[in-house]
Amino acid sequence: MRSTISILEQIKSSHPELQFEASDDFYWSPSNSTIYYRESMEVEDYPFLLHELSHALLGHRQYARDIQLVAIESQAWDKALQIAPQYNLAISQTLIDESLDSYRDWMHSRSHPGRHPRWCRYVVWQS
Ligand SMILES: [Zn+2]
Repeated sequence: MRSTISILEQIKSSHPELQFEASDDFYWSPSNSTIYYRESMEVEDYPFLLHELSHALLGHRQYARDIQLVAIESQAWDKALQIAPQYNLAISQTLIDESLDSYRDWMHSRSHPGRHPRWCRYVVWQS
């Protein structure tokens, strides 16, 4: 059985230009080129790490309009799907659909402060 640590180390060593830091959640911080990941990584958490890595690889730094947010999230998932096989990982379409739906829901509820998609905190860095 593969160790999840070894996949993480593999991802880290493939991207020496990026910082990786254990945290309480997954997110990409463009300001210090750091990908934060949950300290207790399980195999099912890897899609989120690849998603944040994809934001980094695609150079996502900001978005101008809400309408672009879902497109940016969608691009990050497309990229994550492309790179997943390099690490023998799979990402389910259901997960991607749920993630994108959470962004659409969030955009319709922006008047409620503190609510943001739980899937990816990329947007937090824009506010
Ligand atoms: Zn994202």
